[in-house]
Amino acid sequence: MSFRLSAEDIKIGILTVYKLNSVVITPISGKYSIYSSGEKIIDVKINTSIHLTILDNCIIVSTDEKNYGAYNSIDFVSSGFLNYFTINSTKYAKKEFSFDDDLNITVVNNCFKFINIVDLEHYIAGVVEAEGGRKASSEYYKVQAIICRTYAICHLNKHKSEGYEMCDLVHCQVYNGKCRNTDILMAASETSGMVIVDERSKPINATYHSNCGGQTINSIDVWSINRSYLKPIVDKYCTSQPNARWERHCLKKAWLAYLGDKFNYPINDSGACNAALNFKQWTRKTYFLNDKDIPLSKIRNDWLFKSSYFSIYTKGDSVVFKGRGYGHGVGLCQEGAMKMAEEGIKFRDIIKTYYHNVKIVNYEEIK
Ligand SMILES: [Zn+2]
Ligand SMILES: [Zn+2]
Repeated sequence: MSFRLSAEDIKIGILTVYKLNSVVITPISGKYSIYSSGEKIIDVKINTSIHLTILDNCIIVSTDEKNYGAYNSIDFVSSGFLNYFTINSTKYAKKEFSFDDDLNITVVNNCFKFINIVDLEHYIAGVVEAEGGRKASSEYYKVQAIICRTYAICHLNKHKSEGYEMCDLVHCQVYNGKCRNTDILMAASETSGMVIVDERSKPINATYHSNCGGQTINSIDVWSINRSYLKPIVDKYCTSQPNARWERHCLKKAWLAYLGDKFNYPINDSGACNAALNFKQWTRKTYFLNDKDIPLSKIRNDWLFKSSYFSIYTKGDSVVFKGRGYGHGVGLCQEGAMKMAEEGIKFRDIIKTYYHNVKIVNYEEIK
């Protein structure tokens, strides 16, 4: 019997960027056997190094003592308690990768293709840990676990053609393998199976960002996508957090030239120039100077500003952009959520603060 936090396994394409063709895999805990096409090749003792190399598109399996032959595909199958293994490669000698549960290996273009068949909650904990950031409270980790799980169950088809459900990169969700943080593991376990759904019981697109600057923003104003649960709120929890404020400077003429070139803004009109140099957002706006042709999100992208929530002041020949927040501002504000959690607010209330009219349900209920 293997020990599982939940009944569900998920297939993740791992180490997708490394292009490895020679590795050592070592079971560290639990019980492992190697199979090929359903036939057992070897029971592997814990801490035994299994060497894998590629020859003629086949995987050569050996230990220090013995060669076990060549296979098209092999599986590390776990059957113990708390099963995990490491993967080492001479190509990246300084890195050691650790993964929970099972592993399927094939060869594609003369490199290994690794698929980690992992308990959903082990995966969620790995994703929350990879999300990183500063150390947070366990209540915040529960929020992040539910968000990552909600995302995961909506994107199980992203890599169907490659034989797995999600990759380990930003394209899906960053996953660096086994989670070492016990607070995060507990948070995944205690929220096991929970996902966020909207009024029609559909899993939500649980978008989040680092800091909203004091007000979140409507999804329609950033992505032209209307979602009943992604509506703005006033957030008093994030305004003294690390990413609450930013500042940038540039020459007045560079700013005006940008507006003229990009948006045909009338920079030869002194009144219009004056307005463009003295723009204030006390509450969050969508458009620059209320001009529908100049979305603030567009300016943010062009200038790589931390947010679209900024005011403009002048100082000599320069303009000063004074901004609030970090990120697109839609959905959950991470630094606000962290502060709420620190103040003792429970994960359900934090989630319902940032996403409107949502429910938290077990995904079994909505399958
Ligand atoms: Zn992907
Ligand atoms: Zn906020």
